[in-house]
Amino acid sequence: MKIVASCNNCRAEVRLKKKASNRYELSKVVGNYVELECSTCKTTSKYHLNSFDAEKSKWIYFVYPFTILLSVLSVIYLWEILAKTMSYGVIVTPIVVFNLIAWAVTSSYEHKVRYFNKFLAES
Ligand SMILES: [Zn+2]
Repeated sequence: MKIVASCNNCRAEVRLKKKASNRYELSKVVGNYVELECSTCKTTSKYHLNSFDAEKSKWIYFVYPFTILLSVLSVIYLWEILAKTMSYGVIVTPIVVFNLIAWAVTSSYEHKVRYFNKFLAES
């Protein structure tokens, strides 16, 4: 999860390199205002905590494609066992497990992002 605001000057993404689960927790670390330099236009501005939003990091978009890849690989790897035993559980079980893990990872991550954005800091 990344904590970002948009630059007051050029609207580019300004990233706050701190970890916090909500704005209140963040205010205890950095105060209500943070001075940051935009990496695009090099302007330094003061941002109120409420101008920051939590956004998903890029890796979260690779969870499901990676799960599909793992599923395909497991089918290829387990194909011979399936041919011998004729039990589809051999192939279905790992696919179900991979998808459940992917679902658990992405949904708890999305919950964290929503939780951060839900509450505003005192102004
Ligand atoms: Zn800028």
